[in-house]
Order: sequence, then C-alpha cells, then structure tokens
Amino acid sequence: MSIEELKNYAGGRWIAPESHGLLDVRQPSTDEVIARVPLSTSAEMDRAVAAAKAAFPGWSATPVARRCELLWELANRLRASAEDLARLVTRENGKSLPDARAEVKRALENTEVACGMPVLQQGDKLVGASFDIDGEVLRVPLGVFGMIAPFNFPLMVPFWFFPYALATGNTYVVKPSEQVPLSMSRVAGLVDEVGFPPGVFNVVHGDRRAAEALLESPDVAGISFVGTSRVARIIAVRCAETNKRFQALGSAKNHLVAMPDAKIDDMIRNMITSCYGCAGQRCMASSAIVCVGEELYREVGRRFVAASREVLVADPLDPRVADEPMVMGPVISARSRQFILEMIHTGIEEGATLALDGRGLVVPGCERGHFLGPTVFTDVRPGMKIHQTEIFGPVVVILKAGSLDEAIRIINDQQYGNGASIYTQNGYYARRFKLEVQAGMIGINVGIPAPVAPLPFGGLKASLFADTKAQGKAVIQFFTDQKIITERYWPEA
Ligand code: NAD
Repeated sequence: MSIEELKNYAGGRWIAPESHGLLDVRQPSTDEVIARVPLSTSAEMDRAVAAAKAAFPGWSATPVARRCELLWELANRLRASAEDLARLVTRENGKSLPDARAEVKRALENTEVACGMPVLQQGDKLVGASFDIDGEVLRVPLGVFGMIAPFNFPLMVPFWFFPYALATGNTYVVKPSEQVPLSMSRVAGLVDEVGFPPGVFNVVHGDRRAAEALLESPDVAGISFVGTSRVARIIAVRCAETNKRFQALGSAKNHLVAMPDAKIDDMIRNMITSCYGCAGQRCMASSAIVCVGEELYREVGRRFVAASREVLVADPLDPRVADEPMVMGPVISARSRQFILEMIHTGIEEGATLALDGRGLVVPGCERGHFLGPTVFTDVRPGMKIHQTEIFGPVVVILKAGSLDEAIRIINDQQYGNGASIYTQNGYYARRFKLEVQAGMIGINVGIPAPVAPLPFGGLKASLFADTKAQGKAVIQFFTDQKIITERYWPEA
C-alpha cells in the first residue's frame, strides 16, 4: 500500500513540499509508518505567511456575521465527519476512541463559541468622557497569527485559538506537531471545502525549523504556542524580542489531594481516569496524589494500586475494546517510552517504592507498539525527581501529608501550576484549596478540571508564559487590539 505524503495548505492551494525532506509519521500502537510529513523550509513558511498577509485586508473588511457563517459551515462539516476525525486522532496519537471523540467535540464547541463573535467582539463607548467629547473602544484585528501545536491533542488544541482568530478578522497559519500532522491536514481539507477566501487559513507542516520561521517572521502579529515549558520559554523570549503578542502554554505536574472525608469509591474511580486517560499524556492528567493522614495514605495506596491493575491496556482501534470508556493505549513514540522507563529507574534509585510496575507489558499483536502499563510509586517524598518532573506517561506518585496546609505547600512548592484537584465534601477545605493553590485550573471532586469552550483554559507559573489564556472570551482579547478613540465635533457656526 502506498504511503500518503502530506502537503501544506497555503493560499487556498495544496502545495507539494520542497522541504528539508519527509519525516515518517508512525502509528504509536504498531510503530507502522502511516504517512510522511514535509519538514518545511523557512521559505515555504514565509510564502504561507505572505498568503495570510495578502488575505488580511479583504477578510478583516468582511462583515463579522459573514465570517461566522463560514465558521458555522466548518462546524457543520466537523460534526458530519466527527467519527472519521476521531478515528484519525486515535490512529496518529494512540488515545482511546472515546477520548478522541471528546477531543473532536471540544474542537466543535470552540468553533461554535467563536460564532458568537458578533456579540463577543463588540467594543465600548463612553458618551460624555469630557465636555462634548466621547470615548470609544474598538476591538480590531491585528493581522496574521500563528500557532505551534503539541502532539497530545492533534485536533483540539489549534481550535482553542484559530476559530476566534478568524472570527475576529485575523488570518492564520498553523504548524501542527510533526508527530501527529494528519488531523490538521484533514481540517485544512474541510476549510477548503467550506470555501474560506484563499490565505485566510493555512497549515504548514514541519519541525522546529518551520516553527522558528513563523516565530521570526516580521509579518506575524502574534503566536499561540502549546507544548513543553522548555520551548514555551523560548517562544516567550523570542516574541518579546520581536514585539509579537504571545501566549505560550507549557508543561504540568497536576496533583490530586485526597481528604479523609472524600467519597472514597467515587474518588478512586475518578483518579484512575485522570491519571491514565490518554496514557497520562493530557496536559490536565494528574500524576501525583497527596493523601492527608497516614490511614488514608495507606488505604488510597492499596486501593489505587488495585484499581490500576485493572486498567485495560490495548490497541485503541481493536474493535473488541474500541468503545470501552476506559482503555489505555500506547504513549506517543519509542523516544517518549524510553524517557518514561528512565524516569521509573530514577524513582527506584531515589528510594521510592515501586508498588506497581508497568514495564514489560506487551499487547499481543502490537509487539512493536509503545505501550507501558500503569505504574505507581509510593513512599515518595516531595522534591524527588519523579515528583518534580513531568513524566507524561502512565506513572503516578503517591505522597503523604499531615494536613491540608502541608498538601497545599507540596503543590505550591513545585514549578508548574496547570491544574490541581481536591476530593472532599467539606466546603471549608474546598474553599481554601480554590483560593490558596497556585494552579490555573482547580477541580473539586473533578480529576480533570479542563474548562469547557466558553471558559478560559490555562495555567500559572511555569505552565503558562503570558497573561491571556486559551479559549472563550480570554482569547478574544489576544486576537484584537483595543483601539481607543476620543472624538469631538465643534458646533456649526
Ligand atoms: P514540544 O514542546 O516538544 O513541541 C511542541 C511544538 O513545538 C511542536 O510543534 C514542535 O515542532 C515545536 N518545537 C519544538 N522545539 C521547538 C523550538 N526550539 N522552537 C520552536 N518550536 C519548537 O511539546 P510536545 O511534546 O509536542 O507536547 C507535550 C507537552 O505539551 C507537554 O509538556 C504538555 O504538558 C504540554 N501541553 C500543555 C498544554 C496546556 O494547556 N498547558 C496543553 C497540551 C499540551
């Protein structure tokens, strides 16, 4: 069978790559090559940015209702191809089909929310700002925006941004992760079918060189980045130096706090989906559990390990398990799996107890897939590398705290601040947790507190470099300039 070679989509055309070469795209569950992705040159990126720049005057002058009409049509096509898209996400990323369906749904929700732009983009007016003078705040688009995307949500993450950018009148270039380029190529196909004007939406594939070209382009007004904090920092520095707007969402080490009054059966079930969904590769996945009190620590340790043993690890496209709500697929690549194995080794060397060892798990028929079983460490002390590092796999560390104060301190002492959740029925504990934990997204009896599309999405500390978050109203601020008009008319003589 011939292997599909992807093309860039720029200026309303599919463009065969000149490129530094083609990279194999591998299906994580089998390691089979399923496509080849171009590693675009900076000249190819520059041409896509030029097409987006040329499209900007016409697109920004198009009435907002018309812009939203086209986005609504895109939403219709997403809905109609939702199952195909979900299967594609599963194929290239390895997450379960139910997770991939949820990803498509969130992409769709963001498109629908952006269709509210005729109301959302409205500015303000202050009549009588001074004698015979009115003040007015217009929200206007800025030009070409770009997005550099991660591998873990191939479809959804670009939708946190681009529907809002287009609805507000900007034009857009997406650089998908080179590990999972198929979903956004399919989205470019849907955009093409809808008939957006050429250059309004572009997809340019590649690795860091293509990303750097986007970053360096003087014709790009702003960048949305999602990925590791290491790269987020680079993006932030470079955007500041080149006077671009930026929002750079980074890594995470999300904690779950168990309080003695928690509903323990519900809590354990919820913790399992939080820690092992998408094989622990959600930015909102939890990977550290802090139990308040010795007795609870022992009980949670025992029950969480027992429940972890029951997690079904399989090829997520195997029809026998594909619709199971909780099936754990592989991690993204051999490299990622190797890093996780090294971290497990580190944990053992640091003196933590390996209470459940997921190494060595083999899924029959997928011997070359990048699978790992659920892995749990107990006797973990704050500050150990396995507690501080984003492992981004199915590895969970369990810690003990003497009080809620200590649990909050354990969370706040580490560098990341993406999400954190508490399990309790007690409003006093919950309120303190909401107010005192340094994380952008807080869950109360919700292990994955990922906000829905109309609400902002983003963390704190090293998990977010910027001051505007993704999705919803927050991102509209990012994609528009507030132009302030002060106006007066003298009376006719
Ligand atoms: P990554 O940082 O390795 O890559 C992200 C993107 O950056 C890719 O498109 C890659 O080609 C590009 N890139 C790599 N090096 C670059 C450089 N030097 N300059 C410019 N671009 C460069 O991230 P990943 O492994 O694809 O994604 C996983 C990470 O993303 C995890 O850390 C996860 O927590 C994070 N993430 C965070 C959120 C959030 O909301 N905070 C959401 C999703 C993922």
